[in-house]
Amino acid sequence: MNESVTDHPSEEQLERFLLNMLGGVELELLETHIMSCNDCVSRLQKLEIEIAAKKLALSKHLDNEPALAQRLKHIAARRFL
Ligand SMILES: [Zn+2]
Repeated sequence: MNESVTDHPSEEQLERFLLNMLGGVELELLETHIMSCNDCVSRLQKLEIEIAAKKLALSKHLDNEPALAQRLKHIAARRFL
């Protein structure tokens, strides 16, 4: 159960996690938290869709991250169908 999980990461941290901008201890803590927190998993999923939509809007700069771009386009496509 989740009773010991009180310290949810901020929206900003989740966003940076999705954008692969976290590293080291911060990344580790966040991953550990997410693995034991269903709330944050759904927050992440929501946020991922938002970011995908945002990124698509400025999609010219995705060339340096082809794999991520593909993923984001896929997510966004599902959302807007
Ligand atoms: Zn959480």
